[in-house]
Amino acid sequence: MKKKYKAMVLSCMDPRFQPLVFNYLKRRKLTGKYSAFTIAGAAVGVTASKFKKWHSTFWENLNATINLHQIEKLIVINHKDCGAAKIVNGKKEFNNENELNIHKTSFNKIKKILKKRHPKLKIELILMSLDKKLKKF
Ligand SMILES: [Zn+2]
Repeated sequence: MKKKYKAMVLSCMDPRFQPLVFNYLKRRKLTGKYSAFTIAGAAVGVTASKFKKWHSTFWENLNATINLHQIEKLIVINHKDCGAAKIVNGKKEFNNENELNIHKTSFNKIKKILKKRHPKLKIELILMSLDKKLKKF
């Protein structure tokens, strides 16, 4: 039997990216087939120590969607020019290199924790820009 649901999508709350994320997933024919967890910073929000209080809520929701919807994959969509990444960056200049490092750190962390907690779950790590460009990690 073909599974009904495919993935949980972790994305940022930024209003500019709602249509971009929706249309990207639509192009991938995932509409109606994913659960959504939307929080400031996406992977940054659920891994950076600045947002510690948010972390367990994400992992508990992931547990719930695994049990309820039998998803097989976590699709993480971070984005450029993210307010949460700027908060993590602090007083340093928010240049391309620092920005990319924050996203990479969050991707590495979420991947590592996921491997421990849900070794069978696949993961996709995507950094989206406002011009709709995607960078996969
Ligand atoms: Zn954001």
